[in-house]
Amino acid sequence: MSPQREWFEKNYYETLGVSESASDKEIKKAYRKLAGDLHPDKNPGNAAAEEKFKDVSAAYEVLGDEAKRKEYDDVRAMGARGGPGGFSFNVDDMSGSGGLGDILGSMFGRSGRGPAGRGGSAAGVGPRRGADIEAQLTVDFADAVNGIETSLFLTTDAQCSTCHGSGSRPGTSPKVCSNCGGRGVIDDNQGFFAMSSPCRVCQGNGVTVEYPCDTCRGSGIEKRPREVKTRIPAGVKDGQTIKLKGRGAPGRNGGPSGDLLVQLKVMGHERFGRSGDNLTVTVPISFADAALGGTIDVPTLDGSTVTLRIRPGTQPGSRHRVKGKGITRSTRQGDMEGDLIVTVDLIVPTELNDAQRAAVEAFAAATTVEATQET
Ligand code: ZN
Ligand code: ZN
Repeated sequence: MSPQREWFEKNYYETLGVSESASDKEIKKAYRKLAGDLHPDKNPGNAAAEEKFKDVSAAYEVLGDEAKRKEYDDVRAMGARGGPGGFSFNVDDMSGSGGLGDILGSMFGRSGRGPAGRGGSAAGVGPRRGADIEAQLTVDFADAVNGIETSLFLTTDAQCSTCHGSGSRPGTSPKVCSNCGGRGVIDDNQGFFAMSSPCRVCQGNGVTVEYPCDTCRGSGIEKRPREVKTRIPAGVKDGQTIKLKGRGAPGRNGGPSGDLLVQLKVMGHERFGRSGDNLTVTVPISFADAALGGTIDVPTLDGSTVTLRIRPGTQPGSRHRVKGKGITRSTRQGDMEGDLIVTVDLIVPTELNDAQRAAVEAFAAATTVEATQET
C-alpha cells in the first residue's frame, strides 16, 4: 500500500487517541503510553495487541514528525471525500493514468489557487464542512449536577458504508475528470484576464463517478442510525446547549465534519432546587429548635445527611449555608464549588397531647406576663 493511500484511509489522530489540534507534546505522550501498553514484550502471543502496536507506531512515525504531520493534514484535508477514511481510490486501476501521485499533485495545485482552494467557495470547489446537527437530551437532576457519561441515538447523514464515501460502486473507482484533468476548475483565458470557473462535468470535485454506488446513488452519504457517546459535564443547566465538535454531518470533499449541538433539558427534583452553582433545600424544624437553637439533619443530593447548627431564635424562612455541598464544576480557573442553601420552615403541630398543650399554654402565659411587665 502506498503511503499516500494509507494516509487517506487511516486516521492517525484517532489511532493515538488525540485531537487533530493536539500539541507535539500531547502526541508524544499519547504515543509513549500506548506503545508501552501494547508492546509485544508485554503482550506475548496477543495478535490484536501486536496489530495495534504496529498501527500506533505507524501513526507516530507521521504525527511525531512536524513536516510529515503537515503533509498528512494537507493530504487528508484536500483529498479525502466524505471524511476520515473515506477515500477509496484503487491505486492499481489508476496506474495507467499516472497513479495517485498525479491526483495528489493536482489537488495541491488547486489548493494554491486562492478562492478555489481550502475551505470551499461559492463556486463549490474544494472541501466543504459538514452541517451542524441539533439534538435534544433530557437528563436527571442529579446527573446534571454530577455529570454523566451517556449516549445519544441519532439518525443522520453518515459516510456511506458500502462505498466508504467515494460514491463509486465497490470494485470500481472514481475517474480523474477528463474535462478538467482533475483540477476541478477550468481556465478561461480572455485576453488580459485569466479567470477560472468550477468544472461543470465533475462539479469541481476533480473526479467523476462512472458507476455510482447503489446504496447512496453516488453521493457518498447515507442516512444511518448512530450512537454518539458523550460526557455531560457536571453543573449543566436546563436549556443549555453543549457543542460536540466534529460529531455533526460529515464534510464533503475532505472538509471537516460539522458539530453536534445538544440542547439539554434538566428534569426537576422533588426535594432539591438549584440556584447557580448552589443547591437549595427546605428543611422543617420545630418551634422548640428554632427558639432554643440546636442541630438539625439536612439531606444532601448524594443521599447522605449533614448536621447544621442553628442559633437560638432562628426565624422561619431564614437561609443557612452548608459549604461545599452544592455543584462542583470544572472551569478554566479550576473547580468551582457551590454550597447547599438550607431554608428552614417552621412546623406548627396540628395536634397536641396534654403535656404539649400545657407547655404551650404555660409559654403563652409567660409571654403575656413578660409583655405586661414590660409596659
Ligand atoms: Zn455509497
Ligand atoms: Zn472536472
